[in-house]
Amino acid sequence: MKIGSHVGLSGKDMYLGSVEEALSYGSSVFMVYTGAPQNTRRKPIEDMNIDAAHAKMAEVGIAPDDIVVHAPYIMNLANPKAETREFGVRFLSEEIRRTEAMGARQIVLHPGAHVGQGPDQAIQYIIEGLNEVIANTAGSPVQIALETMAGKGTEIGRSFEELAAIIEGITDQTRISVCFDTCHTHDAGYAIKDDFDGVMETFDRVVGLDRIKVLHINDSQNPQGAAKDRHANLGMGHIGFDALLNVIETERFKDVPKILETPYVTEDETSKKRIYPPYQWEIAMIKARTFDPTFIETIRAQ
Ligand code: FE
Ligand code: FE
Ligand code: ZN
Repeated sequence: MKIGSHVGLSGKDMYLGSVEEALSYGSSVFMVYTGAPQNTRRKPIEDMNIDAAHAKMAEVGIAPDDIVVHAPYIMNLANPKAETREFGVRFLSEEIRRTEAMGARQIVLHPGAHVGQGPDQAIQYIIEGLNEVIANTAGSPVQIALETMAGKGTEIGRSFEELAAIIEGITDQTRISVCFDTCHTHDAGYAIKDDFDGVMETFDRVVGLDRIKVLHINDSQNPQGAAKDRHANLGMGHIGFDALLNVIETERFKDVPKILETPYVTEDETSKKRIYPPYQWEIAMIKARTFDPTFIETIRAQ
């Protein structure tokens, strides 16, 4: 089963540290940001310790091309300012080179936000930006995985139709895939809990199921359609463990990496302090196909 979580990439071990963090959770895949997700400062490729990471992956049987990279979420290819869009194009082109050097094949991208100019103009800018990035990196095996978004603020990609409209404008569509996020699609109004088969049929008709190359597995703190984008731990939200297990075990996604982006467990219900990653426990529950309603308490007690 290709299951893992997002992990860090920092310190002196860099990418090797990411592999070791993933292994400590019992993961067979993982996702990384190539630096802090909220900024665009990055280390040179030579300093990322990629060879040591690949040696470790070979030893434990993790395929580098199953690893997923996530572009920083502050990027906005739809920004009304031309220089901000140009910066985004340059930065994403470099991120694709880093992704390729890491042996990964998918870089997840939040399509963008229209910030008041309306979705049509934004989609046009996103198409122009992506076509430039793809031309800058022609021949690269890396696909840009457009993420399904929750519809918070002015986000683009909250409907399958918006993703389809972007893809339709792309010159080389072989370079585009989709990252399907369960929390985001639920928040955008799709019935992930009650009718996942129906959602898949709709996605297939509008975008095409073959585009899905990454799954983000998150529960949601809010009801279907809330457009909030607040992730919850597995089984602790409005989607629920059984519905998420159903997504994970969908036969046609057998070879698609499934990535948890659930929140760190806090000291107590009211605390905002992140103390412990939940992934080891969540992955164990998935493998056992059984929800343990006390797992948060167990993590707090250790
Ligand atoms: Fe994301
Ligand atoms: Fe996500
Ligand atoms: Zn999210």
